[in-house]
Amino acid sequence: MTCGTPKTLGEFFRWREEGIIGLRFGKSARLAIIEVGIYDSLFEKVERIMGKPVKHIILESQKKAAIKMFEDLPEIVPGYGSLKNFNPVRQLTVRFYKIIAPLLGLGQFESIEYHPGKLGRVKIINPHNIDMLSASITGAIECLEGIPYDSGIEVLGENKYLVTITPSANKNEATERLEFNFPRLIPGKTKLANCTRCGVPLVVSERFKWDIEKGTLIDKRTGARLHIATIELLTTVFRELAVELGNEVNDLLVEAQVDWTLKYRGLLGISEGANLEDIYSEYLRDLPVYGRGNFVSMTTDDSKTTIVVENPFQPELLAGSLKGFFQVIKRKSCEVTWESPSEGVLVYTVEHG
Ligand SMILES: [Zn+2]
Repeated sequence: MTCGTPKTLGEFFRWREEGIIGLRFGKSARLAIIEVGIYDSLFEKVERIMGKPVKHIILESQKKAAIKMFEDLPEIVPGYGSLKNFNPVRQLTVRFYKIIAPLLGLGQFESIEYHPGKLGRVKIINPHNIDMLSASITGAIECLEGIPYDSGIEVLGENKYLVTITPSANKNEATERLEFNFPRLIPGKTKLANCTRCGVPLVVSERFKWDIEKGTLIDKRTGARLHIATIELLTTVFRELAVELGNEVNDLLVEAQVDWTLKYRGLLGISEGANLEDIYSEYLRDLPVYGRGNFVSMTTDDSKTTIVVENPFQPELLAGSLKGFFQVIKRKSCEVTWESPSEGVLVYTVEHG
């Protein structure tokens, strides 16, 4: 059986048994499919509740994550580390964005102009988040050239932008290097039926719709916009927010996900009085499709539900979903906590209250 996903999807990405999305080439990359709306919801909450602007933190962490991603490229493309100093290779790297951006749901890169050391310009239509995207591009170019860059965004029309990057006047403000230890993966048991043509799981095309022309990725159930993010990108944003603003940020991330779940409850097919275990297990079985880990077990008694997930992704997001579903079904709030008994394992407890 074949699917309807873009042909290039299977050329770049692999849905793996560990419940993650990886690159077809390259061992350590980990990606996940994320609702774009969660960012605005979280950032708005943080600014409102903590009374502090957070945009600069988000942009700086995007930049760091992009640099980290490019630093890892030699592992994926042998010899890249020395080749990147050659102009044609740099040009190719930059142009690669044009192919990869729509697959990642980041928007359409209409035209690209790049003169190393002087100027870079890209016209972007339908970006998932123009600020974050502009920061990532800047980070990527900084990594290619080894000098700091500044970026500017100009609105050209509805969902249409021009991002311009120029070498920074302050040569000393190179972005701090990011230390990121990739968590050890627990071998998985997820077996998804794959498309015989492209190797992408069939369920992926049932769930998601790519529009390569527009550069968008849509969740077919909710109509919500999604994007494929590297784990560094997300973890870095949340970690930097917590460093600057305190751990309260993590609670806000849980709440942002609760809000998202409540907003889409109808489309997600959850209603008051539904069977909690059924809704939970349906959602948890889907985690590998989103690259968010493997669901291992669930036990329930009168007072609590205990859920075990391996190779988890940003723990707060799943906690928020569990909390949101409970709230819709039981019409009351609940406590969700989690702990990690060993590397790569999370045990969630949903207190029924
Ligand atoms: Zn296919």
